[in-house]
Amino acid sequence: MGIYEDLGVTPVINVTGAVTRLGGAPMPQPVLDAFVAAAGDCVSLEELQAAASRRIAAATGAEAGIVTAGAAAALTLGSAAMITGDDLGKMERLPHCDDFACAVLIAREQRSGYDHAVRASGARLVEVGFNEIVANAGVRRTEVWEYEAAITPQTVGIIYSFSPTSRPDLSELAAMAHRHKLPVLVDAAGELPPRVHLTSLIATGADLVAFSGGKAIRGPQSTGILAGRGDLIRAAALQFLDMDDHPELWDPPPELIDRDKLPGVPRHGFGRGYKVSKEEIVALLTALELFTSGAYDRWLEDDHRRLQIIADSLANAPCACRLHTSSNGESAPQLEIEIDESTLGKTAFDVCRELRAGSPRVFVGHGKLREGVLVIQPLHLTDDTATAVGAAIIHCLGGH
Ligand SMILES: *Cc1c(COP(=O)(O)O)cnc(C)c1O
Repeated sequence: MGIYEDLGVTPVINVTGAVTRLGGAPMPQPVLDAFVAAAGDCVSLEELQAAASRRIAAATGAEAGIVTAGAAAALTLGSAAMITGDDLGKMERLPHCDDFACAVLIAREQRSGYDHAVRASGARLVEVGFNEIVANAGVRRTEVWEYEAAITPQTVGIIYSFSPTSRPDLSELAAMAHRHKLPVLVDAAGELPPRVHLTSLIATGADLVAFSGGKAIRGPQSTGILAGRGDLIRAAALQFLDMDDHPELWDPPPELIDRDKLPGVPRHGFGRGYKVSKEEIVALLTALELFTSGAYDRWLEDDHRRLQIIADSLANAPCACRLHTSSNGESAPQLEIEIDESTLGKTAFDVCRELRAGSPRVFVGHGKLREGVLVIQPLHLTDDTATAVGAAIIHCLGGH
């Protein structure tokens, strides 16, 4: 019996990628080794986060950075930093911002369930632009002037969800924001690879960028990175680190928290519940090193071969397979399986449901089910599980 079976929980074959619901990305052995090694000693978390800051700065080109409890926590802490700056009184009052500015501008078309992460800081979202393309009411996306027109004395910053198709252009938005002395916080949680995004987003002038540590970086699922301007990273760090020390003794590393810039010592901040352990920090930094060095690119051929095993096994089934290889040499290939729903008499939803309930339980990518397509993402595949996934799908499609 495995460790999960002992708990009465059945492991699943995950071919949906590094989704949080199924436990994130697989941690490579050096990352697991680092996690275990780090657990054996005690260190100052402030010093460890300062070391993380140096590594994150080197990897991103940002002034500073911290390891957070996922990209979602990075968005929360980054939002808090935009609201408070170094104002200890405001830090003390978050997430209640009754008598100080806390408005964060967001494009209406970029709103999502991750808004909670921003609002948890106390930030009040102010929508700009429209969602005309989805509404089938027009052709235009959100434009920089719409953000500018919404700025008031209540505005503390802008939140921007980055993807290669995001609009408006991030550099133009950041330039406008900086004319108004406002920071831009970018959600790039799932936008790695390509590796270039580690540096290119900071290079746009974005003041803070959030990345997931538990997706393609393959660190612990519960980690993330907040990279950006030194003063904002300091404000974020102050609100989630353990602050219970005597003012006479407290001696944080100046590169992360410059005490001279502060009028006093804040107490535990609203972000205290977003803590990250020493093991998680060290494992994430190890994974970041592997990711930035390109170590994972070598596995793409294996990924491709495993997807081909699945496609080959479906050659005579009522479906059409399309294997998409990465266009940037870093992203994993993907297999799309278009179900012939009328021949089969089942929808892709039915097949997905059966696969989840089968033995072994298989979770396929569900982003295109309405188009009749199962998506297979190879991140967690081995040669053995690839064969098992092929067999499970054949079984659902009426074969053997
Ligand atoms: C995954 C994701 C997040 C949350 O990241 P975690 O590291 O799981 O906290 C936030 N925003 C977007 C767009 C994401 O894809």
